[in-house]
Order: sequence, then C-alpha cells, then structure tokens
Amino acid sequence: MGLMDKKVALVTGAGSGIGRESALALAREGASVCISDVNVQGGEATAQTIIDNGGKAIFIKCDVTNKDEVEAMVKATVDTFGKLDAAVNNAGISGSQVTRVHDTDDAIFDQIMAINVKGVWLCMRAELQYMIEQGAGSIVNIASVAGLIGAPKAAAYSASKHAVVGLTKSAAVEYAKMGLRVNAICPGYTETPMVTEITEVDPRMKELTVRAIPMKRLGQPTEIAEAVVWLGSDAASFVTGHELVLDGGLTAT
Ligand code: NAP
Repeated sequence: MGLMDKKVALVTGAGSGIGRESALALAREGASVCISDVNVQGGEATAQTIIDNGGKAIFIKCDVTNKDEVEAMVKATVDTFGKLDAAVNNAGISGSQVTRVHDTDDAIFDQIMAINVKGVWLCMRAELQYMIEQGAGSIVNIASVAGLIGAPKAAAYSASKHAVVGLTKSAAVEYAKMGLRVNAICPGYTETPMVTEITEVDPRMKELTVRAIPMKRLGQPTEIAEAVVWLGSDAASFVTGHELVLDGGLTAT
C-alpha cells in the first residue's frame, strides 16, 4: 500500500528536474498523475515513464503564466481522474540570473515574477476551486532557500521565492478550517538542469557552492521528491503553512 494509493496528483514543470522526480515518486506511491509543462518532450517522457511502470498519467501542455491554460490543466485532471488530492506547483525559472540588482534587466525581473509568483498564484487559485468543493486537498509549492534568506546576484529570484512562501502561509491559514493544507518546500542547490546550466558555464561556481554546504554536495531531485510525496499525502495530515527546508545544512550555518 503506497502513501498515495487512490489519490490524484498534479505537478507543474514535471518535464524536468524536481518536477519530474516528484511526479515519478507520487506515481510510485500509487497516485494517478497529471504531468504538465511547457516542455512537451520532457513532459510526455515523464508521463510515458509512469505508464511504462504500470501507473496512470496524462500530459497536459500548460504555461503557468496563462490563466486559461492553467484552468484547463486543472479541469483536465479532474475530468480524467475524477478529483484532485495533491497539487505540486513546481514550475519555475532562475532566469539564469547571476547579476547584481543594478545590472539586472527589468525584463528578467518581470519574467521571473510572471512564472515564479503569478504562475503559483494562478495554479493555486484554480486548484483551490476544486479542493474547496471536495473539502480536502494538499497544495505543495516549490519555493527555495532563496525564499528564506537573501541570494546575492539573484535578488529577483529570491524576491519571487519569498513571495511563494508568503502565498503559501496566507492560503494555509485561510483554508485550514476547510480541511485543505498548503505547504512550501525550500530546496537548496539541487542538481537539475536549472543548476547544471550555470555550473557547466562556470565550474568554479559549483566548487564554491559545494564548499558552503555542510554536507559538501548538491541535493538530488529524488531527495526533494520524497518531501513532496510526504507533504502531499495524508501522512502529513497536521502539517500546514510549513516551509520545509532540504539543503544539506546550508541555512543552518
Ligand atoms: P528545471 O529542471 O529547469 O525544471 C523546470 C521545468 O519547468 C522545466 O521543464 C521548464 O521548462 C518548466 N517551465 C519553465 N517555465 C514554465 C512555465 N511558464 N510554465 C510551465 N512550465 C515551465 O528546474 P528545477 O531545478 O527542477 O526547478 C523546479 C523548481 O524548483 C523551480 O520552481 C525552482 O525555482 C525550484 N528550486 C530549484 C532549485 C535547484 O537548485 N535546482 C533550488 C531551489 C528551488 P523549460 O525547460 O522548457 O524551461
């Protein structure tokens, strides 16, 4: 018996990295999963892996900045699988931002905010409509340790993730009495394309990053996925408004 038996989950940005591993772990625990992403090839590959392993999955192309697409994604999940138990709002970008505030283009700030903040906002709103009707549901927003502390040369990204933590806590309190839970996960540096795109260009960056992490390594997306499953499942039934840090000890120093 898996933690997500007979449950239905939705994961945005599930074509790569943390989103993909979260979708695979949710399916491993028994969930039927809606995989969504702008990256069609990656999203279809995740869904196919679940199906090949005997699970149930659909892929829905969705840009989280597009309200109509977000509403259609949630509707397709409920139409296909009958309900929505766990929603993982994971899609996000770093904007490849490694610039100081005064050197950062407004366009990059706007793009990061549109995907990381408005995207989570639109997804939460659409998911909550169904969860309120059901009187149950768990939302897991993927924030970052940059949502808890400052991130030099990534101020826009850090601001966007602080906003995700604020959205999470506010909604957690608003819907607690209705039986809904809303939590955030704050990963530290995790070895996904988002990070390897930067460390491949500047290997010294990886060296410096690893040196700052007490465990002396980057996290793996599979490690973040285990926390997603736990918060998404009834095993975390008394947990809401929490920001769960998985960072190899980085923010403990
Ligand atoms: P990733 O490997 O780049 O995966 C992100 C996925 O989201 C990609 O498939 C990407 O598609 C998709 N995406 C981008 N914009 C989208 C949009 N507008 N609508 C829907 N999907 C979109 O990144 P990751 O490292 O797994 O990151 C996942 C989440 O974890 C993000 O919210 C990130 O901020 C957060 N996080 C990551 C780390 C880390 O160290 N990796 C640490 C803390 C928090 P494309 O590839 O086509 O852009």
